[in-house]
Amino acid sequence: MTLKIVKYGDPVLQKEGEEITNIDGELAKFVDEMFGTMYTAKGVGLAAPQVALSKKLFVMDVSSGKDKQDKLVVINPQIVETKGKIVSEEGCLSFPGIYFEVERPEIVTVQAIDINGKEYTFEASGLAARCVLHEKEHIDGHVFIEHLSPLKRDLIKRKINKKIKLGEWE
Ligand SMILES: [Zn+2]
Repeated sequence: MTLKIVKYGDPVLQKEGEEITNIDGELAKFVDEMFGTMYTAKGVGLAAPQVALSKKLFVMDVSSGKDKQDKLVVINPQIVETKGKIVSEEGCLSFPGIYFEVERPEIVTVQAIDINGKEYTFEASGLAARCVLHEKEHIDGHVFIEHLSPLKRDLIKRKINKKIKLGEWE
């Protein structure tokens, strides 16, 4: 089963997610559905608020299912350290068809809990670091257009309004 991905404009995307306190079979099943939804949508990361669950949880896989080591369940994450800066183009499953450059740290160290309730720490770089930081923003109630200047953000919002009118934002 795939879940419905909410688009920008849905209030759940601008609300801070709650910490997860109970990791059980039900959550594991939901996480499986999140992976399925992410792979179907051809994304490399998906945060719980994007499927209307306002919790501090995201899944990611920058290998798109090719490398098991890249398949991560990230619960209640903390960014421990960031290094460097890099500008690269970014998209978001909640902003279909919208891409722009965002400056982010190049390397990130994250502490989180996995689906077995075990604490773990990992370092990510390149696309994986970008993905972690993008998804972390989602679970904190932020979206990537907040990185743009007010002028550019307005342009994007106008583009979205046009898509809404054409019925391309559902
Ligand atoms: Zn996103």
